[in-house]
Amino acid sequence: MSDFGTFFLPGPTEVHPDVLRAMLQPMLPHRGAVFEALFARIQAGLKPIFRTTRPVYVSSSSATGLMEAAIRCARPGAILCLVNGAFSERFANIAQSCGREATVIGGDWSGPVSLDAVEGALKRGGYSALTVVHSETSTGVLTDLEPLTKLAHRYDCAVLVDSVTGLAGVPVETDAWELDFVLTGSQKALALPPGLAFGVASEKFIGEAKAAAGRGLYFDLVEFEQYVHKNQTPNTPALSLLYATAVQGERIAQETIERRWDRHVAMSEHTHSWVHELRARVGAEFSVYAPDGAASQTVTAVSLPANLKGDDVVKAVAKRGFVIGGGYGKLKASTFRIGHMGDHTMEGLERVLEATAEAVEETLGAS
Ligand SMILES: *Cc1c(COP(=O)(O)O)cnc(C)c1O
Repeated sequence: MSDFGTFFLPGPTEVHPDVLRAMLQPMLPHRGAVFEALFARIQAGLKPIFRTTRPVYVSSSSATGLMEAAIRCARPGAILCLVNGAFSERFANIAQSCGREATVIGGDWSGPVSLDAVEGALKRGGYSALTVVHSETSTGVLTDLEPLTKLAHRYDCAVLVDSVTGLAGVPVETDAWELDFVLTGSQKALALPPGLAFGVASEKFIGEAKAAAGRGLYFDLVEFEQYVHKNQTPNTPALSLLYATAVQGERIAQETIERRWDRHVAMSEHTHSWVHELRARVGAEFSVYAPDGAASQTVTAVSLPANLKGDDVVKAVAKRGFVIGGGYGKLKASTFRIGHMGDHTMEGLERVLEATAEAVEETLGAS
């Protein structure tokens, strides 16, 4: 436990020792009562995190698998892809590579795609679904899902949400906001090891999925829906990770999801004020990349002065025993990223930020 609080990548995130230990349990047949009881425990833990009464699909894949499932299972029609970073770009690429007609809107990484741009596209018609990344891990930008979903539903367009660095750190109201499909991966704000993905489909979405041709087999959500009601998965699940998920669901219930959201708000506010202090401390242009009011509470991308490279800071932080993330994609040189999500505490965050400030001073001094 003493080592916990050093690993601040925006995914995978640090896993609590109690969760790691849960994986040291024996194998079980995945068709049988003991497994079904374990699966029911996982459902009881995950449903309140998704804020849903619908069952939660458990996929033995990384999150990208369920992004592909979302596309393959959307009812026939073109897909509107809201792109404002690397992961939303991936969602668009998946739509295209699955042979769907896909239209990209947005395209710049400066903030959420505007509702005006979305409505302009929806008015032209023909979209059965749109894709959106709730918390863009590449930029630290958060998109407000509720008004987007209301708008899309006026045009009978389903909303497919990647909330991989949102869910379990940032409020996601699957039922209240009427999200059609929302997915996450195990290794981000849920603070589990990598290897599982979780998704919830509305009854309408899964009903209409039956009309989608070429759903394939491994990522056919209609199959997941059939099995989940038996507390089973279609194929052999990553059992050791399921043990970890059961324990983490109970740990989150103990904290309560509301307090978990609050802890993430506090960590992100603290990181933002640290960026402002850093600017004063070293007299250089540091800023939060995300625009005001659209910052994700789980990850902050910090824009750097031109004479500083993200990777050099990351290396200098590593010498101090902490891991933070470099910039992603086209922001690789001009930012670094701090993943303040999962089970991290304010005390741990304060330590990594102090180490990062020292690393910045050292790197600027050397340049
Ligand atoms: C990490 C991440 C993914 C991809 O997840 P994998 O588990 O690597 O497939 C997708 N979307 C977002 C927003 C992410 O942060």
